[in-house]
Amino acid sequence: MLLDVRNLTTEFTTPEGARLRAVEGVSFTLGRGEALGIVGESGCGKTTAMLSLLRLLPAAGRVVAGEVLFAGDDLLRLTPAELRERRWRDLSIVFQGAMNALNPVRSVGDQIREAILAHMPWPRDKVGARVSELLELVGIPAWRAAQFPHQYSGGMRQRAMIAMALACNPQLVVADEPTTALDVMVQAQIIDLLDRLRRDLDLAMIIVTHDLGVVAEACQQVLVMYGGRVAEHGPVERVFAAPRHPYTQMLLKAFPTIEHRGAPMVGIPGSPPRLSDLPAGCRFHPRCPLAVERCRVETPEPRAVGEGHVAACHLV
Ligand code: SF4
Repeated sequence: MLLDVRNLTTEFTTPEGARLRAVEGVSFTLGRGEALGIVGESGCGKTTAMLSLLRLLPAAGRVVAGEVLFAGDDLLRLTPAELRERRWRDLSIVFQGAMNALNPVRSVGDQIREAILAHMPWPRDKVGARVSELLELVGIPAWRAAQFPHQYSGGMRQRAMIAMALACNPQLVVADEPTTALDVMVQAQIIDLLDRLRRDLDLAMIIVTHDLGVVAEACQQVLVMYGGRVAEHGPVERVFAAPRHPYTQMLLKAFPTIEHRGAPMVGIPGSPPRLSDLPAGCRFHPRCPLAVERCRVETPEPRAVGEGHVAACHLV
């Protein structure tokens, strides 16, 4: 096992001094060559969970409990220098919208070269060969290294950002909404690319997304979050075929799929809770059609509903 996240819990402090719990008790494990999709609506805590485990929270946020064991070391307890050493070499990130963060006045190859040299003490000639290798790995001809970002399509810029994330041979890549803002055909190509890289390089991946199609295509595990907590977690095939948590069931019905072409899509009424106003008991109860009195007062803990499959609902 490469990554073992245990009871990850994060709070934000407001300017008034109030502490808001954005993520609570998130646990999962991930092996090499395996991808986990973290899904949920906006505000459900998926991005905060990702930033917490990477120790990239904004100043107001703090992990208040839990462990993030990466190859046996707790990332939450490394010194800043030790953590810098691990980033890029062991784990790297493709941020949401990163393709728009390329410097417009420098060639793409230069920017990848710079990322490598910032983290690996390699001779310059070796770095040039590595840039070509990385571009070809993500399906960009090496000669395009000399071109500028405006000469790349959106999909190629996203590929270049993925190449940059792979620069130092990490074991884990975290991608935040990797297909957002791309057209449908390009989205499919990026998903294929991520899936191929995972298999070919034996990479572990965490993909944070609101798009269940990405999870179905590219992930082996899915973790559904709601109100900062895990609603359901398990193997993708099992969870998608037989979701046990009412929120997962509604999320799947609200999402169009080719298999269910023609079936009506049903939106989830209401909206996710605000951190400053989390409901007591099950956080989904104000929107849950199956809620009973117990749901309003007692928080359901995740419980096993199958092999490697847990759901946090009083009715499972
Ligand atoms: Fe719905 Fe109750 Fe289950 Fe929460 S615990 S998902 S409110 S049935």
